[in-house]
Amino acid sequence: MVEIDMMLHAQEPDRLRLAQLPTPVVELKQLSRHAGVPRILMKRDDLSGLELSGNKIRKLEYVVEDALAQGADTLVTHGGFQSNHCRATAAVGARLGLKVRLILRSEDPMPEADGNLFLDRLFGAECSFHPPKEYQSQLDNLVETTLDAERTAGRTPYFFPVGASVPLGCWGYIRCFAELAEQLGRDSPVDLYVATSSGGTQVGLMLGRALLDCHNWSVRGVPVSDSVDYFRTSLRELERQTVAEFKLNVPIDQMPIELVDGFIGEGYAIPYPDAVESIHLLGRSEGIVLDPSYTSKSMTGMLSELAQRGSSRLPVFLHTGGSFGLFARRDLLS
Ligand SMILES: *Cc1c(COP(=O)(O)O)cnc(C)c1O
Repeated sequence: MVEIDMMLHAQEPDRLRLAQLPTPVVELKQLSRHAGVPRILMKRDDLSGLELSGNKIRKLEYVVEDALAQGADTLVTHGGFQSNHCRATAAVGARLGLKVRLILRSEDPMPEADGNLFLDRLFGAECSFHPPKEYQSQLDNLVETTLDAERTAGRTPYFFPVGASVPLGCWGYIRCFAELAEQLGRDSPVDLYVATSSGGTQVGLMLGRALLDCHNWSVRGVPVSDSVDYFRTSLRELERQTVAEFKLNVPIDQMPIELVDGFIGEGYAIPYPDAVESIHLLGRSEGIVLDPSYTSKSMTGMLSELAQRGSSRLPVFLHTGGSFGLFARRDLLS
């Protein structure tokens, strides 16, 4: 990985080594036969660790480094009650001896401690639950109250938002792009498919693509929570902030934002039959676990595009993790 460091070192902020990197790239032979295309590859970021598994840990490497540099002893963040981001934060906190406070969105005031939430508890994070309406309208207050309580108790809290999708966190996927380009070679044309929600993953990949001049790579985000129109604006905004904060030499106005529309279903974390079928398909044909909120939908989007337009470039699926979430939804598969 010497080459990656050479490519990025000028602007890259410090990071903690938390994830198991590089994650492997594997060929999905049964799936490509099923889809009728010569090859499909998978970048297995679901193997970035066990407790730390998934895409969030790459972002946390930078964000938690910053928290430690600022003398924090408590991490405060938020997300849905089955948030992979919150679970990874809880695990990192335990490992580094930091307190973790999670502000969680949940219809049910006492949701069953299964999947990620089971692990949040196991890792000793302090969780509070808020109905979606309160969570949406009162989030700033909830965060402020939590930070105040920690300060009053004599601790030094550090806050980062859902998904760690802040400019610092985007570095996780700038680096991942460089890692993948080194694994596949920069010159081969690639269609890289990824689930998009808080946006830092796709923005990091797009910036990596620009920084490494991989113009024959396409970063194809599959929205799983909000509309394509919403993402066209919010991804660009996060991209602008990241370019400004780190003075990156990237012409963002000329960079395409590629989004694969039509695979959200009724909304975030609400599965639909084709997405459930994708979970079955990857389980049976490859022995790989997809999750109910993200990768089942991005996989469905990729397979649909391949069925409609075939593949002139090499399709690569970024498995962003989330496996624990499936255990909280075993009802879907019974
Ligand atoms: C958070 C998450 C994503 C989406 O990444 P963002 O950076 O939030 O867009 C995709 N897949 C899984 C499994 C996730 O947990």
